[in-house]
Amino acid sequence: MTAPIIRTEIGIDDVAIRELEESFRGQLVSPADPTYGEHRKVWNGSIDRSPALIARCAGVADVIAAIRFAKKTGLLVAVRGGGHSFPGFSTTDGGIVIDLSLMKGIRVDPDARTVRAQAGVLLGELDRETQAFGLALPAGIVSHTGLAGLTLGGGIGFVMRKFGLTIDNLLSVDVITAEGEFVKATQHENADLFWGVRGGGGNFGIVTEFEFCLSSLGPYVMAGPVFWPMDESQKVLRFYRDWIAECPDELMTIVVQRRAPDLPVVPRDLVGKHVLGVVCCYAGSIEEGEKVVRPLKEFGSPALDLCVPKPYLTHQMTFDPSFRPGWWYYVRSCDVAEINDDITDVMIEYGQRITSPISSLALWQMGGAVSRVGENETAFNGRNVGYTFNINGNTESAGGFDEQREWARSYWTALSPHHTSVYVNFLMEEGEERIRQAYGAEKYDRLKDLKRKYDPDNFFRLNQNISP
Ligand SMILES: Cc1cc2nc3c(=O)[nH]c(=O)nc-3n(C[C@H](O)[C@H](O)[C@H](O)COP(=O)(O)OP(=O)(O)OC[C@H]3O[C@@H](n4cnc5c(N)ncnc54)[C@H](O)[C@@H]3O)c2cc1C
Repeated sequence: MTAPIIRTEIGIDDVAIRELEESFRGQLVSPADPTYGEHRKVWNGSIDRSPALIARCAGVADVIAAIRFAKKTGLLVAVRGGGHSFPGFSTTDGGIVIDLSLMKGIRVDPDARTVRAQAGVLLGELDRETQAFGLALPAGIVSHTGLAGLTLGGGIGFVMRKFGLTIDNLLSVDVITAEGEFVKATQHENADLFWGVRGGGGNFGIVTEFEFCLSSLGPYVMAGPVFWPMDESQKVLRFYRDWIAECPDELMTIVVQRRAPDLPVVPRDLVGKHVLGVVCCYAGSIEEGEKVVRPLKEFGSPALDLCVPKPYLTHQMTFDPSFRPGWWYYVRSCDVAEINDDITDVMIEYGQRITSPISSLALWQMGGAVSRVGENETAFNGRNVGYTFNINGNTESAGGFDEQREWARSYWTALSPHHTSVYVNFLMEEGEERIRQAYGAEKYDRLKDLKRKYDPDNFFRLNQNISP
């Protein structure tokens, strides 16, 4: 599978590269390889980097070989699962990308209600396998996101209020350390590492395989968005915050502000208009779900109501067309305790200012099962936040990107009196203080201790870095 590498072309130690080529089972892609252009791309089109080598690992042995090669040659390492890092940490100029995207193994054990998944699995691939048995893992809301990066930051999504974060369902991980050593971590074995990988990102090593427990769900759920014209935001948001205060953990909602997308399900006369939506997912029976969401569906005169019984798998792809690979993306994020009147005023002002057809706001309802796990049980921070803002300034290409970035930044700044913390997986490259804020001072110090134990030389540093 591996094409011979023109060694001088990447200027790396001859012996080291020959050794790697001889043993590597996956694909080594250098700039001379005809597939290099395709494999160096990451999801965010605004990230344009040219690694010296892309090591597309076929298995654990390849990961060990790639780490040892990087150590020997001194190449800076980027680790790629699904390639969806907002700031583009899964690629690098001139370094090596340890690309796990070929590692797609998934095995569901329906009796034990567990799943083992390798590090290249995408969320939609996992959902498909688990749903074949009427089971699900709580994870994210876009099916082409990588399971690995998402899990290592925590993992928030449509059924978390019922079943917890992705990490709350994690049973074990296989990790390859900066020394190229295999380590297994569970609640009982290397428990300090197991604590750290549940929120601490890729700081401690490369996870090659995850094991999770699963819960019963679907195959049909009551789910989808209800939209109103944006000029009705004031009354819809007031209704919304009272309504969700009484809703059970089975219900999770995301408030969306955007211009209505040009999709077949959207009436032609609504496309491009500013709308405010509430996207629901009820992790329980259809009958109960219908009862719970009825007041929302009957509030005012929705411009579009797509909240109906549907396969969970279909619902999990709702946002896919809005976050296509290759478009240009910029995100700003913060957590807040509640949606007070000041916050709704900011939302109304900045929602109306959306110009790009693909910029949007997603306001995540947190709580439920997420808040019932102790704040110090995992490295993830913010178990008790009320809501998470995810402000996306996006364009299809470079044109107009600066303007969208500015919109996202100023929206975020206007919310700053209400910021509490931030979800680490929604950070751009924002500096150490923001990373500390994401973990809180106490957990950040504990993570630093762990980093000193597992990666004292900061070999894995292209990430939301916890510097030793
Ligand atoms: C369209 C989109 C939708 C999203 N939706 C959600 C959501 O619903 N819920 C949510 O919680 N988050 C969501 N996110 C954020 C997401 O969790 C992060 O972007 C995450 O890093 C993506 O993981 P990945 O494997 O695709 O990324 P990659 O870019 O491949 O990896 C990101 C970083 O994770 C680390 N990493 C990846 N794989 C490994 C590994 N095997 N071992 C060690 N370190 C590794 C590396 O540090 C790497 O730089 C979304 C992001 C996008 C772009």
